[in-house]
Amino acid sequence: MRSHLLNGLTAEHYRSSVTEGVERVAAKLATTDRPFTGVTVDALAPRVDAIDLDRPLGDTAAVLDELEDVYLKDAVYFHHPRYLAHLNCPVVIPAVLGEAVLSAVNSSLDTWDQSAGGTLIERKLIDWTARRIGLGPAADGVFTSGGTQSNLQALLLAREEAKPGRAGWEKGDSLAKLRIFASEVSHFSVQKAAKLLGLSADSVVSIPVDHDKRLRTVALARELERCRYDGLVPMAVVATAGTTDFGSIDPLPEIAGLCAQYDTWLHVDAAYGCGLLASLKYRDRIAGIDRADSVTVDYHKSFFQPVSSSALLVRDAATLRHATYHAEYLNPRRMVRERIPNQVDKSLQTTRRFDALKLWLTLRVMGADGIGQLFDEVCDLAQEGFRLLAADPRYDVVVEPSLSTLVFRYIPAAVTDPAEIDRANLYARKALFASGEAVVAGTKADGRHYLKFTLLNPETTAADIAAVLDLIAGHAEQYLGESLDRAS
Ligand SMILES: *Cc1c(COP(=O)(O)O)cnc(C)c1O
Repeated sequence: MRSHLLNGLTAEHYRSSVTEGVERVAAKLATTDRPFTGVTVDALAPRVDAIDLDRPLGDTAAVLDELEDVYLKDAVYFHHPRYLAHLNCPVVIPAVLGEAVLSAVNSSLDTWDQSAGGTLIERKLIDWTARRIGLGPAADGVFTSGGTQSNLQALLLAREEAKPGRAGWEKGDSLAKLRIFASEVSHFSVQKAAKLLGLSADSVVSIPVDHDKRLRTVALARELERCRYDGLVPMAVVATAGTTDFGSIDPLPEIAGLCAQYDTWLHVDAAYGCGLLASLKYRDRIAGIDRADSVTVDYHKSFFQPVSSSALLVRDAATLRHATYHAEYLNPRRMVRERIPNQVDKSLQTTRRFDALKLWLTLRVMGADGIGQLFDEVCDLAQEGFRLLAADPRYDVVVEPSLSTLVFRYIPAAVTDPAEIDRANLYARKALFASGEAVVAGTKADGRHYLKFTLLNPETTAADIAAVLDLIAGHAEQYLGESLDRAS
């Protein structure tokens, strides 16, 4: 069994074993002709169930054969140009190389004595990102597992900063007074964070959006004023720079002005829009992000990094102390005086992956411009897709994209019942998924069911978009035809 431990004696076994796995994936990539096989849960579950975990196969090749059957064969492949559904990107090769290196060395980024250079690499990438945002000389941050954790930590810091000494906050006040303001299309992790932070059930004030799905600043101003009038404490405003559903970017400069006026923490959730930090063409779309107190970035969404790779950045490094606890065995207080960099002092996690390595290798091989160019390409593709949809009488499209998302709905001229149109769109999405020919997402806008493309693959072309729109229309028409038959 010791032959399975990775060490100096098994280096050759490591090389051949990982190479075997890489070969399988490479073969899969080369032959995958659709993003999904359309396999159903009922078909796949028995194959997984049948495997007896207490009877190992021992041999790597046999295990990879089995893996082919239960996973690789039917996985959903994000690299395929007709995977257009969620915020999943195809990944860049330097980052995948980083993933292989970081899991083999297996550094843990909580303390210097478990990572050494890893800590310095992560800190340098944090500084690099903070500079791109423009957070100023006191900025800092830490890598996280994803946008959900970044948002949670940002709101923890905001909560701690909001409590004592603030207008409206007197002794005896409870967390129940704190309010967070976020648009009605902000990410649900804001609500989860509020719950985890012990805030009241009505702590997140939902601000309406305009026609372009951007937070209405007039409504925000009114709610901030009301909050103050009611003797409550505005703890934070969450501006979304790239909403998950529409890619819309809240008006950051105006929101920053209101935050300054009401002395409120500004968190910018740029989990999606962070790709613009590297953009050569569209950086100005997130102008004003430099005025944030904290920023969420998901490199695993728009920097073409494998899951997970994400970070929280803060304007003032001192605010990270709200996540600091010292343990004698790990990061005793004296290490701060000795200037030993222990990243756990800034993190909600303890043991933590060296995810930063993936971004490091990406920047060293491709450069930031290389990433920015890929993101610009998908933003351009979304514009092209928007023009196609706007010119297509079969479809209604919601907003002109600020990033790379298109939300649209099949609207047959002959059908006027909106509920029937809802059902046709829902059916089309399911039928397309079952065919495996393309994968698209769905959402609701203005109370109706819509379909969604999240374009993150520069290999996707306008012809792919046109072809998928034809497929969707075909499925929807089939549904409506059958439904006519049912009615008659
Ligand atoms: C995806 C997303 C999140 C959550 O990030 P995870 O990495 O999935 O945890 C938060 N906010 C926005 C705007 C997102 O798009």
